[in-house]
Amino acid sequence: MKLSKLAIEIAESPTFALNEEARLLRERGEAVINLGIGEPKNKTPIAAILASGAKLSSGEVKYTPPDGLPSMKKAVIRYTEENYNRLVAPENVIITNGAKQSLFNIFYSILNPQDEVVIIAPYWVSYPEMIKMCLGVPVVVTPEDGTFTPRFEDIERAVTSSTRAIIVNSPNNPSGAIYPPELIEKIVELCERKGIFMICDDIYHKLVFGRNVAVPAYSFTKKEVDNSHIIVVNGVAKIYGMTGFRIGWVIAPRDLIKVMTNVLAQTTSCVSPIAQAAAEGALNGLQSVVEALRLQIQNNHEVVLQEMRTFNGARLIEPKGTFYALIDLRAFNTNSVELSRFLLKKALVVTVPGKEFGMEGHIRISFAGSVKDITEGIARIKWALDSTSPNEIYIGDKKMIRDWM
Ligand code: PMP
Repeated sequence: MKLSKLAIEIAESPTFALNEEARLLRERGEAVINLGIGEPKNKTPIAAILASGAKLSSGEVKYTPPDGLPSMKKAVIRYTEENYNRLVAPENVIITNGAKQSLFNIFYSILNPQDEVVIIAPYWVSYPEMIKMCLGVPVVVTPEDGTFTPRFEDIERAVTSSTRAIIVNSPNNPSGAIYPPELIEKIVELCERKGIFMICDDIYHKLVFGRNVAVPAYSFTKKEVDNSHIIVVNGVAKIYGMTGFRIGWVIAPRDLIKVMTNVLAQTTSCVSPIAQAAAEGALNGLQSVVEALRLQIQNNHEVVLQEMRTFNGARLIEPKGTFYALIDLRAFNTNSVELSRFLLKKALVVTVPGKEFGMEGHIRISFAGSVKDITEGIARIKWALDSTSPNEIYIGDKKMIRDWM
């Protein structure tokens, strides 16, 4: 079969692949713990259920304008005013099928073949693949060994005459790092000076712990949104735990939004009005649901830190937000794919190899799930790798003995 060379080269999404593997193992009755995919376990907020239910009951489920329902845009405008201190016009907003489509459409709308996009390791797995799909070239900036925060000088050095954008994802998937405000300010200034876009993937911006805050890039520019180099991507997947509704949005200069609207109209027409109504319900409803989720994740974060204290040989830079921890396991194996395979085979724990995020020798665990899964999952990882941990463990109802070291 002859297929597109470009498409064939696009890697499978490792998190979805691992999720499927975990599901199949569980179906076979294995006591698998999935610390792979990043998905909060909360129920859909009631305001979202009622709003989407009402839309469905109306029987008026038709195409919407390609850039989104006016009422949904209004909810996003209010959200932007409240959380970013920016009043934007409806022409600065587009509603998309998840933040994933937001990002893809941005790359498709700003890149010419061979244009470069600077991404910072560790990075979200989909950035490089999406950039390649849009015929662009991902340029990776890797922080100094043992850190997850890049040096500004390294970012500046990566910018060439072919650079079109820098992506900033803070709080960061997979490390949970939040970049300091001074760094954000310098990147804003660099993008303005070079006339390139700063794409802020803010999907985790409210999932921060303690006193940590992710300062929005908008705080560091006086430019109006239409003249600004900042593009903000956000959505309901993480902060409301509404992953399955597939709603994201972009705030950007209207000239870009216009092009993105044409791209969306010619590819997916619009976003389902039922899903848009749900997101609108969530945005306009009680925001205590976000705080409840944040507190639950913050508690899980404490549990992770507690469990990691007795993991000899592993190194963890404390996550400041998100629901991920990127654990340095180079003391055991520098090959993260082998590490993840080993952990699945011996301990029935799903993790994601750091290689997928540009950080070899690490594995990512998600702590969006239950405290039981987190404690038991980390205990199993310790048992599999750390020779100073007890060498007997129960996995499901089977007593297992570590006999490989
Ligand atoms: N950006 C980052 C950093 C993410 O982690 C994710 C989801 N894992 C997305 C974007 C995509 O979000 P959505 O589910 O809204 O497409």
